[in-house]
Amino acid sequence: MELCIFCKILKKEIPAKIISEDELSLSFEDINPQAPVHILIIPKKHYSSLIDIPEEEKSLLGHLMIKAREIAKEKGLEKTGYRLVLNTGKDAGQAVFHIHLHLLGGREMSWPPG
Ligand code: AMP
Ligand code: ZN
Repeated sequence: MELCIFCKILKKEIPAKIISEDELSLSFEDINPQAPVHILIIPKKHYSSLIDIPEEEKSLLGHLMIKAREIAKEKGLEKTGYRLVLNTGKDAGQAVFHIHLHLLGGREMSWPPG
């Protein structure tokens, strides 16, 4: 079966600007940044979205959040704040079906999101 685009990044088959890597996750810059800091945090295991990740993987989901917090701190976003986004399914505009957390920061953001 054809690998998804983020699995290809994991296998280094396509390039990405890697920010950090550990045994469970990879973090890299979004190719089309929506803020001065826009980083994607993904699990190394492929799951399409939050909808199909099993409950037993709740610690993996926590790991992604803690990773995002770590990177936000490294990027100096603690004082100004930042936003984590997990687009899930069609109405949310999910485009890549390998679960990923967006870390956005470095500018003020509006609410509600579009
Ligand atoms: P989503 O709409 O939540 O599925 O977001 C997918 C994100 O992946 C978008 O922000 C894209 O800009 C980003 N993206 C797609 N292809 C790549 C790639 N090859 N490298 C880095 N980011 C990518
Ligand atoms: Zn994948």
